[in-house]
Amino acid sequence: MARSTKANRAEIAIVGGGLAGASLALALGQAGRDVAFIAPPAPRDQRTSALMLPTARFLQSLGLFEDAREIATPLERIRLIDATKRLIRAPETLFDARSAGLEAFSYNFGNADLLERLNGAIAKLSNIKVVAEKAVGFSQVDGDWTVTLSSGESVGAALLVGADGKKSPVRQALGITVRNHDFAQSALVCDLELGRDLGPESVEFHYPNGPFTLVPAGGSTANLVWVDKADALRHAAALPEAELMAEMKRKSLNLYGDIALRSRVFVFPLSTLSANTAGRNGGVLVGEAAHAFPPIGAQGLNLGLRDVEDLVEAIKASPRIDTADQAMALSEAFARKRAGDIDRTTRFVDTLFRSLLSDLLPQQMVRAGGIWALKLIPPLRKKAFEVGMGAGR
Ligand SMILES: Cc1cc2nc3c(=O)[nH]c(=O)nc-3n(C[C@H](O)[C@H](O)[C@H](O)COP(=O)(O)OP(=O)(O)OC[C@H]3O[C@@H](n4cnc5c(N)ncnc54)[C@H](O)[C@@H]3O)c2cc1C
Repeated sequence: MARSTKANRAEIAIVGGGLAGASLALALGQAGRDVAFIAPPAPRDQRTSALMLPTARFLQSLGLFEDAREIATPLERIRLIDATKRLIRAPETLFDARSAGLEAFSYNFGNADLLERLNGAIAKLSNIKVVAEKAVGFSQVDGDWTVTLSSGESVGAALLVGADGKKSPVRQALGITVRNHDFAQSALVCDLELGRDLGPESVEFHYPNGPFTLVPAGGSTANLVWVDKADALRHAAALPEAELMAEMKRKSLNLYGDIALRSRVFVFPLSTLSANTAGRNGGVLVGEAAHAFPPIGAQGLNLGLRDVEDLVEAIKASPRIDTADQAMALSEAFARKRAGDIDRTTRFVDTLFRSLLSDLLPQQMVRAGGIWALKLIPPLRKKAFEVGMGAGR
């Protein structure tokens, strides 16, 4: 085992340079903390993320932009169209942010653009040591963590943070178990040029195997998130481009004219993952290392960045984390603090996803009835918005 020396010891080691890890590194760096940020080069993240107002405000507080509209597209309306042939169909519904007293429901950010801004800001802070290597081993001696790197070098820290995604090696090192469920669905993601602008409106066409969602990305560009059976999407992704575009025109009920492809097509398998705790034994998990779910209701990164905010607050409560006892107490307090929000959001997405896919008549009635109720009863609509926007943590 490679032992860390004083020279390569930090107060906090963050493993993983996705959006959760980079946001955490920047926030802690700005708070003057001593951080090792272990972030090997990763493929460009083609996805976009609809981030709710509180999340956008958190990113703004890191100085990444003055106004979210500089780099993201506002999502002011959400239109739901039931494109199923079910017996009981939901009404076409338009939710308008203004009816909930909001300027927008969320802002649609390009993941790669956001990460570039985060890394640019991190590079200016001398108290963040960026290590562009993979972590390949973890050990704990007298409560102090040592992370072994792919070069054979090592980094030591009192507090270990796993921001290392769904397969999280840190989670395994901490002995944290997960509940997993793989869906038969995948998500096909790409950028499209539409024949007619969406405006600031996200449109969800609901089909029996999942929604086909067009998210505004500025002008006549839209980001597509198409959820369907994995086989159907593999087949679609392999179609000649003209055939695929014709299929997309059909799926969007010809409402947006001719459609052109503006990026590569990616297919992501969908699953839910829920860690049994977000922290123990001097280590904590943020982002998809702790929880992952299908991209329904745009919750994943919003929840991940709420982990980051709570962790930053917990760390800032002590001037420096030096001892194993401090790290242990912090990891347990963080786990307790995050449990409610993670559980509530996971159940919200799970219920939403299953109700969208259900072929059962009672479920269809509940869903259609639920959407009518949301449409007609303002207090209920307000409550649904609040849960979707992560209020009440
Ligand atoms: C199709 C799709 C659409 C989505 N849309 C939305 C949306 O609209 N809104 C929303 O809130 N969320 C959305 N999400 C979810 C969101 O994309 C994820 O929650 C978020 O990107 C996860 O970020 P992360 O940093 O936790 O994990 P990741 O992005 O997976 O980052 C983990 C990082 O850890 C690194 N790593 C792994 N192992 C090691 C190791 N051993 N050593 C060092 N580093 C390591 C990896 O290289 C990677 O860079 C969507 C997801 C999908 C699939």
